[in-house]
Amino acid sequence: MAQPPPDVGEDDCLPEYRHLFCPDLLRDKVAFITGGGSGIGFRIAEIFMRHGCHTVIASRSLPRVSTAARKLVAATGQRCLPLSLDVRAPPAIMAAVDQALKEFGKINILINCAAGNFLCPASALSFNAFKTVMDIDTLGTFNMSRVLYEKFFRDHGGVIVNITATLGARGQMLQVHAGSAKAAVGTDAMTRHLAVEWGPQNIRVNSLAPGPISGTEGLRRLGGSRASMRENVLASPLQRLGNKTEIAHSVLYLASPLASYVTGALLVVDGGVWLTFPNDVKLLADFASSAKL
Ligand code: NAP
Repeated sequence: MAQPPPDVGEDDCLPEYRHLFCPDLLRDKVAFITGGGSGIGFRIAEIFMRHGCHTVIASRSLPRVSTAARKLVAATGQRCLPLSLDVRAPPAIMAAVDQALKEFGKINILINCAAGNFLCPASALSFNAFKTVMDIDTLGTFNMSRVLYEKFFRDHGGVIVNITATLGARGQMLQVHAGSAKAAVGTDAMTRHLAVEWGPQNIRVNSLAPGPISGTEGLRRLGGSRASMRENVLASPLQRLGNKTEIAHSVLYLASPLASYVTGALLVVDGGVWLTFPNDVKLLADFASSAKL
């Protein structure tokens, strides 16, 4: 069985990298990556840059994306523009895209990776908490895609990859907010609608759903107890967590000309976890009793 590529746990660049794809795969392309200052988004930026791409990394915290950009430039020698934006605010997105176009003259790829999540039973979830996750994950993805379409993709073509999740596929407990928000984008609807409507403008739109990925905020916040995660992952087909580089390699494939005939697709990159991961009812009971619900 193939060994996973090496990775590091923190938001740092890889100390060594061996190319599996051609190093020129994204030469002189420009990618706009929301959530590119941390976790999976940071590694996507790094792997893209190691394949000749320039990047714009954007999230709410300017210090976070600025620090990340310095690391990415130092490790890859490519250009990286850090920008502060909230994907819920279309005027801020328009200003950021204008700034990126001024800097690079083009944007070829959009990666919608920004998201917010936490564990909470539906019965205790406030109306506002549900709405916030929908606003960031679902509306944020639409806002970004719509602005990129209008400002560049409509006339020049482009590629969109939406980072989603399989939470809604089996009704993962404590995740009604994120499962609903991601299903609207990746597993059920928005990706396909946009792929169909924008295909004639040479815009490909696909989704990628990671499984449990080591060294991420997502796993730290949502993974539950270490013992139950370990047990469940060991019972899954590839019997291990994934890493950020593995996700970035699959996003690289979808964003590159290797996937030139792929649109409207969902690529699940999870070692088969979604086929076997149990819905642990005890977790819900424990959560409810510790929160006295
Ligand atoms: P992460 O490091 O917390 O990344 C989320 C990013 O989104 C952060 O950089 C955050 O930066 C940004 N963000 C949040 N709200 C935003 C907003 N309103 N506007 C702009 N940016 C915003 O998490 P991750 O675990 O690497 O997850 C990355 C993606 O993979 C997410 O879409 C997640 O749902 C998906 N995923 C992850 C896993 C996993 O195991 N980790 C599994 C399945 C799916 P700021 O705080 O600076 O805004």
